Amino acid sequence: MAKILVVDDSPDIRSLLRVQLRLDGHDVLEAENGSLGLKAATEQGPDLVILDVMMPEMNGLDACRLIRAEPACAAIYIIMLSAKGDTNDRVSGLDVGADSYIAKPFELDELKAQIRAGIRTVENRRQAIYDALTGLFNRRSFDDLMTRELASLERTGRDLSLVMIDLDHFKAVNDTHGHSVGDSVLRDLAEILRNVCRPRDLPCRWGGEEFVWLMPETDLEGATQAAERLRADIKAHGFEKVGTLTASLGVTQANEGESAEQVHKRADEALYRAKNGGRNRVEVAFSE
Ligand code: GH3
Ligand code: MG
Ligand code: MG
Repeated sequence: MAKILVVDDSPDIRSLLRVQLRLDGHDVLEAENGSLGLKAATEQGPDLVILDVMMPEMNGLDACRLIRAEPACAAIYIIMLSAKGDTNDRVSGLDVGADSYIAKPFELDELKAQIRAGIRTVENRRQAIYDALTGLFNRRSFDDLMTRELASLERTGRDLSLVMIDLDHFKAVNDTHGHSVGDSVLRDLAEILRNVCRPRDLPCRWGGEEFVWLMPETDLEGATQAAERLRADIKAHGFEKVGTLTASLGVTQANEGESAEQVHKRADEALYRAKNGGRNRVEVAFSE
């Protein structure tokens, strides 16, 4: 069972696939052009996208490229389904990030086999991209995302801020209530973080009880306000069996020409000041 988004301007194809895929127990979403497809892929989190190429508004190649550029869509398996089936078209489709390409008219059995292969692939990708406990981006994804965002800052000068988050006295939670209660605290924290995030934000688990929140298109002031909101939300939360907990946060903004390590180190120094200053606070590292 998977959540499958069918993006095709032909109502006949959409209805054929809706009926057939639902018979197989899949959850089917539909969009009638590339830009609606991109919106649905980003907002509804499908496992697979079946993408037509020739469509009004935005064609399948452009939609595929843009879906691939969305961090939220990183694990999605994309099957291109097109009447344009010669070698050049297949090459173009795969080059913009499709995982496979089927020419119309297609055999339903082949499409279904591709979907089964896609479901297996998506599961593996998720394990590589997300932290198993919290579902946030894992450390490796953070490194990739940070590299990408720093390159974008270099290219376009667009703002990039970063917040490091560390729970206060978390060791005592494990010691008092046991590791599984500690784990559920970390899951709650991830949920609180997800809820304060805006669509562009990239919440990650750095490791242990430390989290890192990457904020593209956000300056230091905006990031500081967001960090303060998160701090207050954590403080206000009732953690099951534990009650209230607090976190310390360090905020900084990246400068052009900086490495990921430099930016991270500055945020970490701010976090350290927040700890030393009494915890349950946000400290800001202004860059020189
Ligand atoms: P501080 O306020 O200075 O941050 O103190 P702290 O106790 O939060 O920090 P410390 O770094 O001393 O302890 C972190 C603890 O987090 C120790 C470790 O056992 C626990 N921890 C790390 N990863 C996990 C995890 O995945 N699950 C659970 N339950 N605990 C974890
Ligand atoms: Mg801690
Ligand atoms: Mg720690």
